[in-house]
Amino acid sequence: MRSVLILILFLFFTTSYISQDSKKITKSFFPDFDIEIPSPAFKKNKGFTNYKEMMSFLDSLVKDYPNDISYRFIGSSQKGKKIPMVYIGNQTNYLAKVCYMGGLHGNEPASSEGMLFLIHNLLKEDSLRHLKENLSIAIIPMANIDGYEKQDRYAANGQDLNRDQTKFSNPESIYIKRAVNEFSPDLMVDFHEYKPYRVDFVNFGEFGVTQQYDAMFLYSGNLNVSKSIRKVTEDYFITQVKPKLDYYDLKHHNYISSKHKNNSIYFNLGSVSSRSSATSYALSNCVSILMEIRGVGLKRTSFNRRVFTTYLLANSYLNTALKNYNELKLAIKQANQFPEDIIIKYKKQKSGYTLNMIDVYENKLIPINVTLHNGLECSPVIKRKRPNYYIIESELSIVTDKLAILGLDIDTLNYDEVLEVESYKIISSKKSPVLFQGFHENIIKSEIILENKLFKKGTFIVPMNQKRSNLAVETLEPEMLSGFLRFNVIKPESINKIHRYLQNKQL
Ligand SMILES: [Zn+2]
Repeated sequence: MRSVLILILFLFFTTSYISQDSKKITKSFFPDFDIEIPSPAFKKNKGFTNYKEMMSFLDSLVKDYPNDISYRFIGSSQKGKKIPMVYIGNQTNYLAKVCYMGGLHGNEPASSEGMLFLIHNLLKEDSLRHLKENLSIAIIPMANIDGYEKQDRYAANGQDLNRDQTKFSNPESIYIKRAVNEFSPDLMVDFHEYKPYRVDFVNFGEFGVTQQYDAMFLYSGNLNVSKSIRKVTEDYFITQVKPKLDYYDLKHHNYISSKHKNNSIYFNLGSVSSRSSATSYALSNCVSILMEIRGVGLKRTSFNRRVFTTYLLANSYLNTALKNYNELKLAIKQANQFPEDIIIKYKKQKSGYTLNMIDVYENKLIPINVTLHNGLECSPVIKRKRPNYYIIESELSIVTDKLAILGLDIDTLNYDEVLEVESYKIISSKKSPVLFQGFHENIIKSEIILENKLFKKGTFIVPMNQKRSNLAVETLEPEMLSGFLRFNVIKPESINKIHRYLQNKQL
C-alpha cells in the first residue's frame, strides 16, 4: 500500500500539470488575498499578461502620466520582441537609484505581474508619492519575453538566462546587463518564483513534503563581495521587510534549495555564483537581492497572494532605499575600498539544520532534519593577492568585450613596455562530464609564475580600482567557477595571454 502511495505521490510531484497545492493545503497555509490587482492577467480567468497586453498597459499609463513614467527598449528577445525598461520617479535629483527586474525565468509569473502592479501604484497611489519624488526607479517587468509567452523558464533557445551572467551566450543577457549597468543602481532586486514541490521532497514526511515559505531571500555570500554590501543588505533591507511580511502572516526564510550528490540530498543556502544575478550584481558593488516567491507550477492558485507578496517586497525595498539612503551610499563607497586579497576557492560551512515543511498527507508542519551547505558562511581555501591591473593581450578581445558588457572600463597601453607580471601556468585541466547550458566546463588548477615580459602598445589593461572590478576577478582567474576559462569563453591554452600586474606604477 505504502509503495503504491509513494508511486502516486511521485507522479503527483513530477507531473507539472498537477504539481500544485491541494485545496486543503491552500486553505490551511496559502489562502488567497481578496485584493484587486490591476495588471492585465487579472482581467481574465486564465493565463497571464502577454507581451501585447503588457505593452498596451504601459502605453496607457504613459498616456495618462507623461511626466511620471517613460520607457525605452533595451534590445530584442530572440524572437524579435522588444524588451521595455520602464523609468519612474525623479531621474535628475534623486537620493538613490533602484532597479527591479521580473520574468527572467518565463514561468515565474508573480514577478512580472508584481512589477506591473508596482508601476501602476507608483503612478496612482498618493501614499507612494514620496518614493517617486525622491528615488530614480528603473524596472524591467518582463526580462525573458519569449519564455513568458510560453510560460517556460528558458529563453527561446532553451538556455537559462540566470546562468548566463558571465558567459553571455544570449542576446537578452547582454541587453539586460548593459541597460542595468548604464542605469547603475544602488539597489538591484531580481524577482523570481520558486518550485515548492520537488522530487527530492517525496523522501521526507509521511508521503512527501512541500515548502511553506511565501518568500525567500537570496543574496550573496561570495567572499569577493564587499562585507559592507552584505551588511547593509541584511541590516536594513532584509531586516525591515520581515515585519511587513509578518503583518500579513506571510512566511519567509533565507533561500534554501535541495540538491543531489552521490545519491543523497542536501540543501544549499545563499548565493555564491557570479553566473547568476544575485552575486553578479553584488560583485558590481551595488546592493543586490534575488527574491523567490512560492509559485512555480501553481498556475493561478493563490495568485493574488503571490503577486501581492512580490509587490509588498518591492514596496518595502523602495522605502528602505529612501529611508536609509545614507547607509546605502556609505556601504557602496566602502565597497570601493578593495581588500588586499581575492578569494579563488572557498568552502561552504556544512551543518545539520531543521527545516519546517508541510507534510502533504497530514496537512501540517513537520520538522525535517537536513544537511545544510551554507553559502552565507563560506571560508577561504585559496587566496591570491589582488592585482592593480589585469593585462590582457590584444588577441583576446573576446575577453575584454565580455568585461565591457559587465560594465568594466578597459584601457590600453600607450606604448611598448616591459613589465614584471604574474602569469598563469596550468597544472591540471579536465572537462566536466556533465553538460551545462550546452557545454562541458573546464576544470582547471593553475600556478603563478613571475616573468618580465614585453607588452605591445594597444595591449588591454583592466584597472582594478574601479567599481565593478570584482567581476574581473570572478571571470579572469582560471579556477573561478563561473569564469571565462571554466565556461569556454577562452581555451585553456589562451590563459597565458592574461596577466596580473601587482606593482604600484600607474600604467
Ligand atoms: Zn527563477
